[in-house]
Amino acid sequence: MKDFNDFDIPETKGEFLDGGKCECAICGKKKKLGGVINPVPGMKEQIHKIICIDCTLEESALRHGLTKKEAAKRRKQMFEAFYAFQEVMFERYLKENNKKEFKSIEEANEVLDFVQSCWNKIPKKFHKITDTLEKQELKNIFKSLSFDFRTFKNTTTKR
Ligand SMILES: [Zn+2]
Repeated sequence: MKDFNDFDIPETKGEFLDGGKCECAICGKKKKLGGVINPVPGMKEQIHKIICIDCTLEESALRHGLTKKEAAKRRKQMFEAFYAFQEVMFERYLKENNKKEFKSIEEANEVLDFVQSCWNKIPKKFHKITDTLEKQELKNIFKSLSFDFRTFKNTTTKR
């Protein structure tokens, strides 16, 4: 039997705070939460960093050779694309299960987890499209993708 101490849990720097805030691992300020930077595989220092929105944008700008403003725009587009995807998937789930709404918050969370895992499987190059389209165009593309809710596994093949 394993003990909790047997698991190799990477260290975390920074803190999650209430109200969508954090104590940033980079600048040390208490600001709006931006995200978590996962450690680079193979690096000696395996630390997860919880960072604020400003440092997230700066980090992303640096990584993609963008200005902070461009990075902010890109981040917004990414969230919008995800929300469009989520809407399409929720609609499809309800329709395929002959439901008008979720029975419980647990059910909604379960589906959201599934939606998130499907989203994570979308190839990176595909985001070149998702980052530039309007919401309705995006929704049409997402609608054309096949995701099977019966098995909660996606197939990503086009219909
Ligand atoms: Zn910061």
